[in-house]
Amino acid sequence: MAYSKRIFNKVTNDFQDKRNEKKRLLHERETEIYQKIPNIEKIDADLRKFGLKLTRSVMGGAEVGKSVEEIRKESQKLSEIKCEELVKNGFEPDYLLIKYDCDLCKDEGYIDGVMCKCFEKAIKEEAYKYSNLPLMMDERTFEDFNLELYPDDGTETSPKNIMEAVFEYCKEYAFGFNEKSENLLLYGGTGLGKTFMSSCIAKTVLEKGYSVFYQPAYKIFPIFEELRFGDRDKEILRMQIDEIFKTDLLIIDDLGTELTTSYTAEVFFDLLNSRMNDKKKTIINTNLSLSDMQGVYSERITSRIIGNFTQLKFYGEDIRTNLNS
Ligand SMILES: [Zn+2]
Repeated sequence: MAYSKRIFNKVTNDFQDKRNEKKRLLHERETEIYQKIPNIEKIDADLRKFGLKLTRSVMGGAEVGKSVEEIRKESQKLSEIKCEELVKNGFEPDYLLIKYDCDLCKDEGYIDGVMCKCFEKAIKEEAYKYSNLPLMMDERTFEDFNLELYPDDGTETSPKNIMEAVFEYCKEYAFGFNEKSENLLLYGGTGLGKTFMSSCIAKTVLEKGYSVFYQPAYKIFPIFEELRFGDRDKEILRMQIDEIFKTDLLIIDDLGTELTTSYTAEVFFDLLNSRMNDKKKTIINTNLSLSDMQGVYSERITSRIIGNFTQLKFYGEDIRTNLNS
């Protein structure tokens, strides 16, 4: 499990920017206050001197002549006077303090070298944003997957029973996701919950710290075509393609809705091969049946999918009206 370096760097930079911005704002407030209440500038200068003395005396400097305790008390007294001055002049007592988003790590992101919860949360959120998933993080969880929406005729092979097994399989897959996980092909008619199910898997896998990238097929392949034939900024396209190739879990939604050309077929084959060689996992959602797929894609693509993807067929009737999807 490793967070993508790009996401990690982005969050590290965001934290740095946040700290700098807060320092800048504090400096602005200080300038304002020093103009309005000159006495506070003097108090701050004294407080800095106390700070130095304190450091020296903690380090064992003998020349100070006062105990650490005495210096702390005097410094405390000055801080109180400073607050009183601020309040007297109509400001909040903490007007000249930095207000941290996280009091635990003071927005450093780390406490004694250990990643703070706030930093971890920011990484997860960034990874989620990056994953391109169409739904909000807390919108789709396995708990929200309603098996009651699938018909149950009381037989063992009722859609509800089969879907219950599919559900359990996907849940186990998501929570146990690792480098040895399989690729999945979720297939079956429209509105049977494939996108919902893969979103639940994506969310769980993201929570485990893996990178996920979601994209419908009709959006993935044009990225490759644009890079090859278009005149858009190639740098951004290359970054997106890099993500499609390297993300730990790629979810290709709606395979079969894209425009297939000999070029996209070539790209698709390369993508599948490359990801399999790199032991990266792929989930494909499609409304196509296996035989439809053979008609749309070349023999070598279909045999790659059939041979390397665990196939999970979705049964039932269109449940989207109930799922709001
Ligand atoms: Zn923190």
